[in-house]
Amino acid sequence: MFDKEFNPAFGLVVVLFALAEWAWRRHSGRGYDLGSLGGNLGVMAGYTASSLLAGGVVTASLFAVHSIAPVQWALDDWRTWVVGFFVLEFFYYWQHRFSHTVRWCWTSHAVHHSPNEFTLPAAFRLGWTSTISGAWVVLLPMALMGFHPLVIGALLTFNLQYQYFLHTEAVGKLGPLEWIFNTPSHHRVHHGSNAEYLDTNFGGVLILFDRLFGTFVEERKDVPVKYGLTTPVASHNPFVIAFHEWGNLWRDLRSRRTLRGRWLALFGRPGQDAESPCA
Ligand SMILES: [Zn+2]
Ligand SMILES: [Zn+2]
Repeated sequence: MFDKEFNPAFGLVVVLFALAEWAWRRHSGRGYDLGSLGGNLGVMAGYTASSLLAGGVVTASLFAVHSIAPVQWALDDWRTWVVGFFVLEFFYYWQHRFSHTVRWCWTSHAVHHSPNEFTLPAAFRLGWTSTISGAWVVLLPMALMGFHPLVIGALLTFNLQYQYFLHTEAVGKLGPLEWIFNTPSHHRVHHGSNAEYLDTNFGGVLILFDRLFGTFVEERKDVPVKYGLTTPVASHNPFVIAFHEWGNLWRDLRSRRTLRGRWLALFGRPGQDAESPCA
């Protein structure tokens, strides 16, 4: 939604930072998996295509809900943008949290957590089926509060562009900024498949809502982050990356004997309901 318009200045920054990170990784002996990079770019291409095909559903829904909002926040009032920023961060937090804790939503979001190497371009692994997975409905109340879809779209674009810079091992801890903002350190934890780090640090630009709602976990030197999914995806094929979790969901669904089991396979917490093989 909205973030598909190509912004040349941001595109240039993305490429320059990715090159600098590549040089840093090689210099520091970490290596750089070009196969994984190919997977990132392939998934990004598919995500762009899927957004063009289906993103209009999200936009149309926001406009429809906004049209019945009892109050309106003016587009040209700076307070709209300041208040809107915090409101968007709040709803983004919940959208992201549901993307991890509801299996149906996780099926698309797992794509973002598939890279086994944590680099800036890994940020572009975004699910192709997120319109179907529907976690975006969590943003609709913001339109009902009277925020114009253009405001929501612009703030969400900023949120996602900011998060590009979080996907790196090149930046350590950032002092007092770690209290307020989502940082590379916090987002490394978010991408960890270690038991200590699973389902934490859901914030976008801010980390405040994780601190408030009890999902904040600090990166620990004695627990190095293990990137990727608990059952890693080895393939760099963008189609395998985009659809592997749908295959897992289908297999789980077929193996369930009861209605409750099927319901939990679809909407329970990934890997944690009673009949799940991973429970
Ligand atoms: Zn996530
Ligand atoms: Zn990420």
